[in-house]
Amino acid sequence: MKIIRTTENEMQTQAFAGQLAERFGKNAFYALRGDLGAGKTCFVQGLAAAIGIKAAVCSPTFTIANEYLGENGLRLIHVDLYRLSGPAELESIGWDDYLDSGDAMAVEWPERAGGELPERAITVEFRIGGNPDERIITVSSPDDME
Ligand code: ADP
Ligand code: MG
Repeated sequence: MKIIRTTENEMQTQAFAGQLAERFGKNAFYALRGDLGAGKTCFVQGLAAAIGIKAAVCSPTFTIANEYLGENGLRLIHVDLYRLSGPAELESIGWDDYLDSGDAMAVEWPERAGGELPERAITVEFRIGGNPDERIITVSSPDDME
């Protein structure tokens, strides 16, 4: 299934993430593709708000993974694989444990994980549109997911 949405500012991108969290549940796995500055981290901020996370979500570029606790014990794992040397390094960040945890996951630069993405991954692709604040966001979910 495919959804295409154009947003005109950060708030709209965050609100769209919140709508997806309602639609796909609060423990979905999101693979976030797109260039630097395309809006991936902004999207994660919207997801976090929908999960009831009060902490400020910023890019985990230097730590690779950040864990946030939301309401009712819900957790969000925010991963940025930009600096990952290769799929072999996933083990050292506890990747498999994260996948097994059943928590929501949002992964920037998922290409760096090689084939290590779960089947349930929802791909969200960000492109910059015709003006600097326009983002074209394409969501592709696995076919067996509503
Ligand atoms: P990424 O994580 O993909 O590198 P960020 O989310 O950190 O990108 O940054 C997105 C940048 O683009 C921010 O500076 C934000 O203010 C800006 N921006 C402008 N328009 C939008 C929009 N429609 N949606 C999201 N971010 C936008
Ligand atoms: Mg980012």
